[in-house]
Parts: sequence; structure tokens; C-alpha cells
Amino acid sequence: MTHTDDCIFCKIVKRQIPASVVFEDEHCMAFMDIYPVSRGHCLLIPKKHFVNLLDVDLDVVAHMARRLCELTRRVKAVLSPDGVLSAVANGEGAGQEVPHLHFHVIPRSKGDPFGFRFPPNYREKMADRSELDKLAKAIRGV
Ligand code: 5GP
Ligand code: ZN
Repeated sequence: MTHTDDCIFCKIVKRQIPASVVFEDEHCMAFMDIYPVSRGHCLLIPKKHFVNLLDVDLDVVAHMARRLCELTRRVKAVLSPDGVLSAVANGEGAGQEVPHLHFHVIPRSKGDPFGFRFPPNYREKMADRSELDKLAKAIRGV
């Protein structure tokens, strides 16, 4: 038994559990989220098991980027929200619960009582330039 035998999204790919599929191709699949945070909430996953962007094959995710745009545009066209959040959590610390890479595509409207929000007043203090330069250099150098 591999770890993917226990993976809920691998089971969806293998049609072992049902899903409302929007589209699929050789590399990826889009389906409706079963606990939608708003009407029209979809997920886009690779068919092959990757945990998140930290381990995904770059050719697979490059392909998925195009399909993510397509899914985002389709959701926007059908649900007519004010906006669409297209997001991925990498790791539990970022809020990832299902350990199979998935892009959320979530219709959003002004005043939604949930969502991706920065803390209030976060713009009160701008970061120190030398600290930003230091971080940029460290990230560039890995
Ligand atoms: P995460 O919190 O890992 O970023 O998001 C996991 C998402 O998967 C959640 O939005 C959750 O509602 C969705 N989800 C969990 N189990 C299932 C399932 O069995 N089917 C579908 N369609 N979505 C699921
Ligand atoms: Zn999986």
C-alpha cells in the first residue's frame, strides 16, 4: 500500500469516491468542493499525487497554471461574483488539510464574512528597506 491509497483526492481521480467533475485531462482534474465556502467553489488537482507546490513536478504545475486560469474564468462567467480567489495552501501551517496539491477557486463578493485577509492596520508600518533587501538576497540565494 502506498500513501496515496489513503488519499481522498487520489480516490476521486480513481473514481473510487464520487465527485462533480468540471473538467479533466491527462494531467489534472477540476471538481466542485464538497464543503464550498461560497457557491461555485472548485478545486483543481494534479492526477498524480503531489503534496503541494513544494514537491510538485514543474511541468505538471506549468500545465495546471493554464487550466487554473481557465477554471477561474469559467467560475467568474457562471457565478458572476465580484471577484475570484485562486489560492493554494502549502503545508499544515498554511492551512492545508488535504495533503494532495489543490488550487482553490473561490467566488468572492464584497462583504463576504470570511476569506483571505491581512490583519487590520497592517499598513501602519512599512518594512525596513535593509531588512527587505536582506530577505530578498537570502531567498534569491537558496
Ligand atoms: P485545504 O484546507 O486542504 O486547503 O482544502 C481542502 C479542501 O478539500 C476543502 O475545501 C474541503 O472542503 C475539500 N474536500 C475535502 N474532502 C473532500 C471530498 O471528499 N470531496 C471534495 N469534492 N472536496 C473535499
Ligand atoms: Zn493523492
